[in-house]
Amino acid sequence: MKLIFATNNQYKVDEIRATVGNDFEIITLKEAGIDIDIPEPFHTLEENATAKSKTIFELTGINCFSEDTGLEVFSLNGEPGVKSARYAGEEKSFNANIEKLLINLAGKTNREARFRTVISLIINGAEYMFEGVCNGHITTERKGGNGFGYDPVFIPQGKKTTFAEMSLDEKAALSHRAIATEKLVNFLDTFKINN
Ligand code: IMP
Repeated sequence: MKLIFATNNQYKVDEIRATVGNDFEIITLKEAGIDIDIPEPFHTLEENATAKSKTIFELTGINCFSEDTGLEVFSLNGEPGVKSARYAGEEKSFNANIEKLLINLAGKTNREARFRTVISLIINGAEYMFEGVCNGHITTERKGGNGFGYDPVFIPQGKKTTFAEMSLDEKAALSHRAIATEKLVNFLDTFKINN
C-alpha cells in the first residue's frame, strides 16, 4: 500500500520509516511533488493532525496520514503542548524553544514530562486516529547531537540518556511516534487482510 506522509519534517520521516520498515511505501510531500506548508492553527494535536491529512487527501486523492506531536510538561500545566514548535516564537527555533523551557523550569523540582503523538490516517476518505505517549523527564542541560526539537533535554522513563544521545533505532524502539506508528501499522495490516 502506498501512503503519503503529510509532513516536511525529514526527522519524522526517518523515524517513521525506521518503525514501518518495508511493510508500506511511504511517500513524503517532497517526493509527491507537493510544496506546501500546512498551517497548524488549532488548540489540540488531534485537530491539527486532521487538518494536515485532510488538506493532502483533498489535494491528491491519495491515501495519506499526518502526525502532530507535543511535549507536555506537568509542572507547566501541560505546556508547551500543542504550541511546542512555536514555544519561543514564530521562527520555530529548536534552540530557543529549549532555552525557554529550561528557564521556565528553573527551580522546579518536578520535571516530569511526556511526548504525545497523534496520527491521523485517511483511507478512502475515512479518518482513523492513533495515539502514542512516551513519559520521561526534562534534564537541566542539553545532551547529545542526534534527533531534533526537544530531544537533547528529554530522558525517557527507565533510561539514562536523552533522545538526542540515542541512535535513530534506539529512539524508534520506544518513542511516542513509534508507539503511534505501530498502532497505525497494525491497523493497516488488518485493513489489508479485510479489503
Ligand atoms: P509538530 O507540530 O508535530 O511538527 O511538532 C511540534 C514540535 O514539537 C517540533 O517542532 C519539535 O520541536 C517538537 N517535537 C515533535 N516531536 C519531537 C520529538 O520526537 N522529539 C523532540 N521534539 C519533538
